[in-house]
Amino acid sequence: MKWLNYVFIYLMCFAFIARTEAAAVKKILGSSDSTIVQGLNIIPRPFKAETNGEFFHFNKTTVLLLPPGTPLSSGHIYGQYVNLIAGQPLLVKKHAGSNYIKLSIDPLLVPSNEGYVLEVRNNFIAVTGHDDAGLFYGLQSLTQLADFGEKPGIMGCKIDDHPRFAHRGALLDVSRHLFPVAAIEKWINILALYKINTFQWHLTDDQGWRIEIKKYPKLQTISAYRDETLIGHKKELPHVFDGKRYGGYYTQDEVKQIVQYAADRHITVIPEIEMPGHALAALAAYPELGCTGGPYKTATFWGIFNDVYCPGNEQTFTFLQNVLDEVLTLFPSKYIHIGGDECPKVRWHECPKCQKLMLDNHLKNENELQTYFVTRIEKYLNSKGRQIIGWDEILEGGLSPGATVMSWTGESGGIAAASQHHDVIMTPEKYVYMDYYQSLYAGEQTAAGGYLPLSKIYNYEPIPPVLNTDEEKYIKGVQANVWSEYLDSEQKAEYMMFPRIFALSEIAWSDKTQRNYNDFLARLRKQMPALKKMGLKPANVFDEITYTVNKNPDGKTVIDLASTSPGAIIHYTTDGSGPGINSAVCNNGVVVDTDEIIKAVVFSNGQPIGRTFQKRVMFHKGVGKKVTMVSQPVANFNPGDPSALVNGIEGSNLYNDGQWFGFGGADLEAVVDLGTLQPIKTIGTDILKYHWQKMWEPTNLTFLVSTDGISYTPVYSQQDFPVNGINTIKAELKDIKARFVKIIAINKGTIPEGEYGAGGKAMLMVDELFIY
Ligand SMILES: [Zn+2]
Repeated sequence: MKWLNYVFIYLMCFAFIARTEAAAVKKILGSSDSTIVQGLNIIPRPFKAETNGEFFHFNKTTVLLLPPGTPLSSGHIYGQYVNLIAGQPLLVKKHAGSNYIKLSIDPLLVPSNEGYVLEVRNNFIAVTGHDDAGLFYGLQSLTQLADFGEKPGIMGCKIDDHPRFAHRGALLDVSRHLFPVAAIEKWINILALYKINTFQWHLTDDQGWRIEIKKYPKLQTISAYRDETLIGHKKELPHVFDGKRYGGYYTQDEVKQIVQYAADRHITVIPEIEMPGHALAALAAYPELGCTGGPYKTATFWGIFNDVYCPGNEQTFTFLQNVLDEVLTLFPSKYIHIGGDECPKVRWHECPKCQKLMLDNHLKNENELQTYFVTRIEKYLNSKGRQIIGWDEILEGGLSPGATVMSWTGESGGIAAASQHHDVIMTPEKYVYMDYYQSLYAGEQTAAGGYLPLSKIYNYEPIPPVLNTDEEKYIKGVQANVWSEYLDSEQKAEYMMFPRIFALSEIAWSDKTQRNYNDFLARLRKQMPALKKMGLKPANVFDEITYTVNKNPDGKTVIDLASTSPGAIIHYTTDGSGPGINSAVCNNGVVVDTDEIIKAVVFSNGQPIGRTFQKRVMFHKGVGKKVTMVSQPVANFNPGDPSALVNGIEGSNLYNDGQWFGFGGADLEAVVDLGTLQPIKTIGTDILKYHWQKMWEPTNLTFLVSTDGISYTPVYSQQDFPVNGINTIKAELKDIKARFVKIIAINKGTIPEGEYGAGGKAMLMVDELFIY
């Protein structure tokens, strides 16, 4: 389906929505009271906007005035958008009549790059852009406002809008799984509608090389294919494979088509050609480019592989420069992304050629060898008039001079780079990685791991508060990334991307003071039917039930259930039955005074919406009691209050659900004071063992008890934690009375060689110390 069809359907859907609201609504957008926008339903939220009570109707005399210099043809892309909005081909004229739409470019009237001013009155629409992009974005706003009813038109308004950040990005990985050209164009079209202006195309990786390079035909015949693919999540051991050859690549003609398609929509496509790591697919075809000489095979599962390009071999640079030469002819972007992430140094350490190169160039260690590698490629690209972007690991051996850093492992890489006055794009994994789960409900399609709901991406602030005003200006933008390990279909990819990318679009475009999550949701809900009619299959889980754990004055646990769905009534049960309209209503939380499973469903207008929420709550002796913790959990895995260790809720295998306590390289020692001497029959806890996430079981776990809080007696210890996932430890005790319960878990310390994150600190993950 062509983009015109998508936009057409989109407009059809907005018709109904806009018509039902057009008449009475007069709300000011951009006022600080964050009123819910009812009339101007635009994402990302404009800088300033207000309705004026007028309404523009298209009719047979409506003419289109294009900017001076534009060919007087409605076939121009502006004309195409306008014709769709109007529902008819408009006459293109040089002079206005009584009913017209005028497009113009005026950098004096609109001072900000990519900005626009849009005015809709009874007899005209005027869209003025600072530049081409600004005019295009004015048309995108108009598209979102269009009423495509019997009398097509637009609600009267005035909008003055411009973006906050110059880089508003989305990354698509096509190495792990690739998607049809038509799907990519469909997504680019939607990204443009939401004012995303950068599409990073992750074209090469261990699991497949996806771009045709004519000089190296084996990249097409060997590197583009893998023998088979892992089934299920990589954390599930042993690994099982599907036995089916998988692969393909984009021809240079297809690449050109996509780059042009995006350019027409003011989206720059930045290619990512990974180096020095994530290179296994290329090495499979050209083994002489690796340190050992191979043989190598295109990877069939997900992870980090030790075999990387050998910088000690001059042929490596010849190969990469030849590859880049062809890439540069296809991508006019100023920036070329060279990867630079997750490059193990073990092969370089053992390779005589690499070691000689280090000696000859006075490089102290393999990190400096990586910097040498990146700097050489940077110089090459600079000589061709391009700049490099790399992931934050390019900081490891010192930044090469003009590099832009994409901060993905966290915010610290971005902070370090900005303080060294390098440009930065913020893409921190835990806030903007759209391969994370977006729902804590059971039954989600397999995802990489972790939990990133729409609200979390929306509330992310790309400028870290520690930066001073001088450093802040190096933060050029923000980007959300879709990695495709578990996205083996177009539909699965869409589910992960949409609507979360719209939250990214708003944090990237809208002024910080304009951001309001409930307001965003109100606009999003209105756009969902239109998106679905465009053939998109977005996730619709953002109104699902979330919970908070509280305590009432009697010491009982109160689980508060909430949904952002307007007018939602939450019905729940605790007897295992499915909640219905006659089940209890959760008004003031669910009071828990025994172990139970809460099941809940959101009802709206008497009808259930969405899936069933389910949560097990433990009501043990420790719940609500004082906890003293000797060591501090790391920021990423800190529920905030030590008492969350005994809040009755266990951490789930979506590890960043806010329940787990994580200790990086450090031990856990915590004491629960039960207040009085009590008989204790069971002490237990959960340990999360996910080596693929650097989460390691303790070398020893001990429970101790005390009557006075001074002298402790060990009552149980354990050294084996066989489950790859959550290990539940339960010590059954006899004739024990105690007031204090202590848990000591000894951290693994350093991650062993050969494991993910080798040499780094092991993360000890513990939650819910339960005492019965
Ligand atoms: Zn080597």
